[in-house]
Order: sequence, then C-alpha cells, then structure tokens
Amino acid sequence: MIKTRFAPSPTGKPHVGNIRSAIFAFLYAKSKNGEFILRIEDTDRERLVPEAVEYIEKSLKWLGIDWDDEKKVHQSKRLNIYQKYADILLVEGRAYKCFCSKERLTALRESQTKEGKPPGYDSCCRDLVKEDIEKKEKEGQESVIRFKIPESPKEIAWDDVVRGKVSIRTDIQEDFVIMKSDGYPTYNFANVIDDHDMEITNVIRGEEFIPSTPKHISLYMALCWEPPTFSHLPVIIGADKKKLSKRHGDTAIMDYKDNGYLADTMLNFLTLLGWNDGTTQEIFTREELIKKFDLKRVGKSPAVFDIERLNWINGEKIRAMKIPDLTKEVEKFNPEFLQGKESELIERSLTVMQTRMVTLKDFTENADYFFKDIDYSAKTLIFGKSTKESTLKGLKGALKTTDGVNDIDSPDDASRLLKVAVESEGLSNGDVFWPVRVALSGQEKSPSPNEIMWALRKDETLKRIKDAINKVESL
Ligand code: GLU
Repeated sequence: MIKTRFAPSPTGKPHVGNIRSAIFAFLYAKSKNGEFILRIEDTDRERLVPEAVEYIEKSLKWLGIDWDDEKKVHQSKRLNIYQKYADILLVEGRAYKCFCSKERLTALRESQTKEGKPPGYDSCCRDLVKEDIEKKEKEGQESVIRFKIPESPKEIAWDDVVRGKVSIRTDIQEDFVIMKSDGYPTYNFANVIDDHDMEITNVIRGEEFIPSTPKHISLYMALCWEPPTFSHLPVIIGADKKKLSKRHGDTAIMDYKDNGYLADTMLNFLTLLGWNDGTTQEIFTREELIKKFDLKRVGKSPAVFDIERLNWINGEKIRAMKIPDLTKEVEKFNPEFLQGKESELIERSLTVMQTRMVTLKDFTENADYFFKDIDYSAKTLIFGKSTKESTLKGLKGALKTTDGVNDIDSPDDASRLLKVAVESEGLSNGDVFWPVRVALSGQEKSPSPNEIMWALRKDETLKRIKDAINKVESL
C-alpha cells in the first residue's frame, strides 16, 4: 500500500512551497487508495514556533487535506526511539560521540574557508578511544553523536521519480550530526527513522532536500533498511523567473483565504505547480485531481507561480458554482457579511456579481452597496457632459416607469423600464442608465443599472432613485 507523509517543521506559517508538498503527497496517496500521514518534525527547539502546528493544521484543513489524528506523529514525543537507533549505530561503530566545542567548530570552518576548502567537520573525534570518551563524559563535557560517512560507496545514487537518476559524491561529505547535545535528533536522522518506522513508501518533498538525500540513503544503508522512493518536486519561481518571494505571492497560504480565494482554487492552482495531466486542461475539481494525479507527470523544470493564472482559476471556479454553494463560500469567508440579510437579495446580488468576481472580496468589499445605505457625491450622478436638468428628467422618468410595475422579475424587465424612460422623456441613454446606476450603487463602476434594479427589487430601487433626485435637486 502506498503511504505518503507531509513532514513540516513547525517554524512558522506554512507557505506556498510547503503546502504544495503536502498537496502532492496527499493527492498521490488518495489517487492510489493509500494513506497520508501528518508528521510534525519539531526537533529543532531553537527554531520552533509554538503556534506553528496550529497554523499548519488549519491550512491543511482549509484545503480539505485530511489526515488520521490517531496516526499523527510529533517527533519530540519519540526521543527514546531516535536514541535507541543512535545507540545501535554507536555500538556498531557506525557513529561516534563528538565532544568538539562550538568554538572549535567555528574556528575550523573559518580556517577552511580562508584556505578555500569546503567547510566541514574534520572527523577529529572519530577515533577517540573508550577511555578518552569516559574521561570527557566524567568531566561533564557535552557531546553530539555523528554518523561516520563510510569509505564506500563513493557515490550515492537513486532513481528519483521526478528527476530520474540522481547521483552525488560522498567523499565531500562530512560526518554529520545525528543526535544533538540536547538529546534531540537532527532532521536528517529523525526523518529517516520515522519514514522507515511509519512504512512510508514515497517521500515527496521540494528539491531543496536533494542535497540531504545522500545522507538519508547512507543511514538507510547503515541500518540495513530499504529506502523509500524519492520524488523531489521542482522549485517554484515567480513570473520573472526569479526565486519565489513575498513580492511574487509567496506568503502564508491562509493569506489567500483571507483575500477571498477558494480552497478548491488553491488546491487546483498549487497542483499545477509541477504537475499537468498531459492535456491543456487547467481547471480540475478536487475529485478529478484525486483521480488523475500521478507522480509520473510531475516535471522537473521550475514551476512558475503566476498570480494571473491564480486569479483566472478563482474566477472560473466561482462561475462554475451554484448560487447556494457560492452563498456558503461567502458565509464562510465573512460570516457577518450576510447575517440577517434577505435570502432573495443575497441570491440575486450574487447572481449579478458571479460573472464579475475574481475573489470573494469582490462581493463583500466592492459590492456591499447591495446591502447597505450608500453615500456618494451628487455630482457623480451627472453623466459626462450632461446637465443637472436632463439628469433629473432621467431619474424622474425611471422613477415613474418603475413605480408603474408590480415587481421587477428580471434584469431584462428592468432594462425595458429604463428604455421607456429614455424614449418618453426624449433623453439619451446616458441620462437615464448612468444616473440610475449611480443612484443604486453609489459607484462609478458597477454592474448595469437594470441588473442592480432586479437584485434590489422595486421598493429599494424607488427609494434609492428618490434619494438621488433629492441630491441632484440640492446641487
Ligand atoms: N521537515 C522537513 C521540512 O521542513 C521535511 C522534509 C521532508 O519531507 O523530508 O520540510
């Protein structure tokens, strides 16, 4: 059975890149009827941000990425397990205690850099004899445990599902730390122990972990374990081909929620950062992604994070929704916004806005005039070179025709009322459509007046037109 995991380090709010790894691991497991595990890699006590686990879980939940809480792992609760394996490696002579002080290591690195050599540990404590070790321990000297990089093989290679064969020389590798002096394992060590222990079949992570992979494979070999299959996902870059930064949209994933993007959009968009289904299809439902996702179709060239594409996908998803579903999304996005509002007004205003929205904010922030009293300057009511008099005529004409009907059943109905006003008063379209639109929305840009009339219905339309007439009259 396929088993994948998302193994975030809780050092802050998860960003686009972290979440993309979670999505790929999740989709792959789901597509193969396998299992997806959440593992919190909280062994770096210095970089730990206590609220980060909550952020991570919230972000995953928002995206509909679910995991089994019973199987969730916190590495900090498994220290005895890492210690056990470190002890095995010590006994077998595949690891050793290192007592080198921070000062010595810093000085070593500095001198290596000065000499133009690659910085790395010089294996100084590799051959300490038992007596030396006991003496240092008795003196209370702190130690770490380092893994002994074996003499052979000289090269570690693996078949990366995304990148094909990758091979890296080991002779330039230092004896790396597996257990720190605080009793916590390093990322490299705990990661390997846990992937094995949890029977992870596929490690799916960003390509920045490629340099760590030979270390992991050396550990698997030392422990006589079969390594999982590795898939290193391509780097994400901005539209300008530069490394993704905040400027390109590399912010916390929940910022996208706060800005009115749908969870399904983010899932779709982030999956396209490295994956395609072999066709030009760009909009996928959650179910389609689960069905079609395959690691074999993940490319290795950098994936471009294009905000325009994100906006387009969000707009398309909004348009594909049924109004009751869209209403639910708005409610989730801003629970107060629709509270106590008439359901018909909600339905009609969302119908008007649906084709125009890029994000949910376009409704809750830019189209709040449907739901609240509006304020605008009287001058806005006068179109282009038109006059106060013809504007008044236009508004009064629209008031009259609207007052003459029982109800406004469709935007077309409303349009007819406005056209009658134009014709009967002998005015231009601009003298009726423009002021009525401003009277109803208070905005220079908004959907057409007949659509807003339909959404607001007769009484509210009349009220707003009357207010506008008063405004113009007082000019
Ligand atoms: N804890 C690592 C991270 O922060 C996990 C990398 C991996 O998936 O092996 O991303």
